Amino acid sequence: MSTNTAEHTIIIGAGQAGIHVADSLRTQGYTGAITILNDEVTFPYQRPPLSKDYLGADSPGTAMPLRGPDFFAAKNITLHAGAAIAVDTAARSVTLAYGTVLAYTHLVFATGAANRPLPCPGSTLEGVHALRTLDDAQDLQRSLSAARRVVVIGAGFIGLEFAATARVRGLAVTVLEFATRPMGRALSPTASDWFTDRHRADGIDLRLNEGVASIQRDGTGLLVESTAGERYPADLVLYGVGVVPRTELAEAAGLSTGNGILVDSALRTEVDGVLAVGDCASFPNAHTGSRTRLESVQNATDHGRHAARSIMGHTSDYAETPWFWSTQGTVRLQIAGISHPTDDPVVLGDPATGKFSIALLRDGMLAAVESVNSAADHIAARKLVGRGIALDPATLADPEFSLKALAKAGIPIPA
Ligand SMILES: Cc1cc2nc3c(=O)[nH]c(=O)nc-3n(C[C@H](O)[C@H](O)[C@H](O)COP(=O)(O)OP(=O)(O)OC[C@H]3O[C@@H](n4cnc5c(N)ncnc54)[C@H](O)[C@@H]3O)c2cc1C
Repeated sequence: MSTNTAEHTIIIGAGQAGIHVADSLRTQGYTGAITILNDEVTFPYQRPPLSKDYLGADSPGTAMPLRGPDFFAAKNITLHAGAAIAVDTAARSVTLAYGTVLAYTHLVFATGAANRPLPCPGSTLEGVHALRTLDDAQDLQRSLSAARRVVVIGAGFIGLEFAATARVRGLAVTVLEFATRPMGRALSPTASDWFTDRHRADGIDLRLNEGVASIQRDGTGLLVESTAGERYPADLVLYGVGVVPRTELAEAAGLSTGNGILVDSALRTEVDGVLAVGDCASFPNAHTGSRTRLESVQNATDHGRHAARSIMGHTSDYAETPWFWSTQGTVRLQIAGISHPTDDPVVLGDPATGKFSIALLRDGMLAAVESVNSAADHIAARKLVGRGIALDPATLADPEFSLKALAKAGIPIPA
């Protein structure tokens, strides 16, 4: 491939979003130079398996690469080891940790997110883990093989995926969650309640309305004291209490931030030639009507594709339907759209079978669908949610109703 070296896109961050910007630029015919800056010591890898298969008893022990070994050479993309430590948007340059300065015509922040620290005494003791990177997962994998009792702090996706994996390995698992229901930020109360029952039936001691007060060393193990005054001995503690977007570099460069780097509907910041994508970006969300920051593979990959379009000069609005999945033991949860706690839930199928969906109606419109072990519903829901489709609870509750059939029949154009 002949490269137009006057054009140079620098992407800060070699995660899901950053790699997708680069790949999409080449697919869309970009002939400029592309450099991706990677501050991790490993080749770019996928994060989702780290809280699932990677920690299983028969784990392959290797990370799943984001792209194969030949990808970068074949696409003429330079993967540069090292962190970006400064950005000068006036000079259009990026300074790397070891002093090299690179000039850009376009710059993409794809810096991701970092785990929110656990705000309690003892949170940095040996045996207390968080999970974001391959290094974290390798540490956990080592500790897991010697552990019998595990305490998980936070019943979000990562906490529950880990809890289910540890339970399948035969460990005694306690989960502490200070909110009234698990995965409360993302799931409807109906779905949260189903997961509470399911995890408890699988032998996980899931404690709601109970946070962590402190962690202490206790002989060779750990002792977790909860806000309810209970004490839980543990060989290993994992906390998953949310993430914070990595915006420090963008802030130092003078870009506007606020729970993420602020971008417009074409994923551009207010500075010419500078964009932000993935977990670190706060964007106007066509589905919620408000500014949002999402943490999902879908968001990272679709952002990557859209940012490439913006760099290529197409300034359409980003409006992809958000979707997400989580695997907790043998349960596969898939969500299309973004639910709100006040949405009206209609259950499709029988939850007792472990295979069902929940349609969420907002102002009579299909706003989101949560599917449990129901991939066909999820695929259909991705075509239907956010399209202004009016549905009433009686139609949805009819045993003959099927999301798949509705999607196949074609989407009615709203009047
Ligand atoms: C354990 C785990 C399980 C998950 N499971 C799921 C799942 O089941 N389904 C789902 O949809 N999503 C899941 N996610 C979320 C999903 O993986 C993320 O939303 C996605 O990876 C975000 O991609 P990103 O490229 O925006 O950020 P990241 O993947 O965080 O990549 C950002 C990269 O930028 C690097 N970086 C930051 N600053 C600099 C700098 N100054 N210089 C150079 N590099 C820098 C970071 O080190 C990192 O490598 C999971 C996440 C984790 C951690």
